[in-house]
Amino acid sequence: MARSPELQPVLDRAAEGGRISPEEALELYRHAPLHALGSAADAVRRRRYAGTEHIATYIIERNINYTNACVTACKFCAFYAPPKSEDVWVRDLSDILRRCEETVRLGGTQIMFQGGHHPDFGVEYYERHFSAIKEAYPQLVIHSLGASEVDHMARISGVGPEEAIRRLKEAGLDSFAGAGAELLPERPRTAIAPLKESGERWLEIMEIAHRSGVESTTTMLMGTGETNAERIEHLRMIRDVQDRTGGFRAFIPYTYQPQNNKLRGRTQATVFEYLRMIAVARLFLDNVAHIQGSWLTTGKEIGQLSLHYGADDLGSVMLEENVVSSAGARHRSNRLELLHLIRAAGRVPAQRSTTYEHLVVHEDPALDPADDKVVSHLSSTAIEGGSAHPELKLLDAS
Ligand code: SF4
Repeated sequence: MARSPELQPVLDRAAEGGRISPEEALELYRHAPLHALGSAADAVRRRRYAGTEHIATYIIERNINYTNACVTACKFCAFYAPPKSEDVWVRDLSDILRRCEETVRLGGTQIMFQGGHHPDFGVEYYERHFSAIKEAYPQLVIHSLGASEVDHMARISGVGPEEAIRRLKEAGLDSFAGAGAELLPERPRTAIAPLKESGERWLEIMEIAHRSGVESTTTMLMGTGETNAERIEHLRMIRDVQDRTGGFRAFIPYTYQPQNNKLRGRTQATVFEYLRMIAVARLFLDNVAHIQGSWLTTGKEIGQLSLHYGADDLGSVMLEENVVSSAGARHRSNRLELLHLIRAAGRVPAQRSTTYEHLVVHEDPALDPADDKVVSHLSSTAIEGGSAHPELKLLDAS
């Protein structure tokens, strides 16, 4: 039973698929007993995925960081370098294509092209790179960028976001990854990313993208000093847009990492806050299909637990990741371990596509890939054991 007698009917209504208000979501987030909250969220997940509710998905992908130069200087970011700094680097196209080739060879299906707001990179830069990637590797899905990058590149090129999105799509962009949402409400966003576009602008550009046929995922950065009410307001802003467009495929909360950034470790979300967010997101975002649990920033056990608090997806084996790793995320995994984690959490693992189709359902552990070379942070420069640019640690297939 919920602690407050008024909360139980709200939990029951949410568990049965009824819509809850932002005020009710905040009450649940603050006061509902953790297990009751998780149980209600799991009931919603099971109903939504009736018939496949025994499955939890993962994807094999690679972040490709094309530059760390950035004019936006977010206070939580440990990845960027000011454009005139001697620490700035830009990967050339041949290096990027080499990383794509390795991704395909290791069974990856998706790349996330991710970088800073370079002062010279307009729409043309992305057109050139996306079309080159698609020409060489048409099977790779380009699930990349987001409203922040669009806002920046459109300004550099002197065009509107509609034109920028149309040209990105024509060049090969399949969907937006939706990073840069951070926290959408004005106060916490201005506090941690004063030079970034507003949350309203971020959503406005995402809405344009959805109406242009480019769907996306969306994210939330927890633990940089925002209030509980601001976390729920973030969800409300997403739900309102989703009611109009239906273009958000998934919601992915993750936690602030405290190293090497200007926030200097002030405030972090606890694992309980994270699990409560996963559950409340499943209950409140009744119009978003997928809720992703993150083992990368919160750890493997918490990732497993998230599957019992409403998450249906456990993220990815990310062959390369440098952004949150630069800020201190040190969790690594590989495909075999991810399969084991999902099974140990009581689910059947399935490799998915970007659009959440099941590519391989790993029903029988005896048939798991025996010689698994699919390892997270294979070429990360930001985590011990990953190889450094420019020499990728190409794996020996034997
Ligand atoms: S989060 Fe992105 S926009 Fe902000 S400083 Fe880092 S690279 Fe730049």
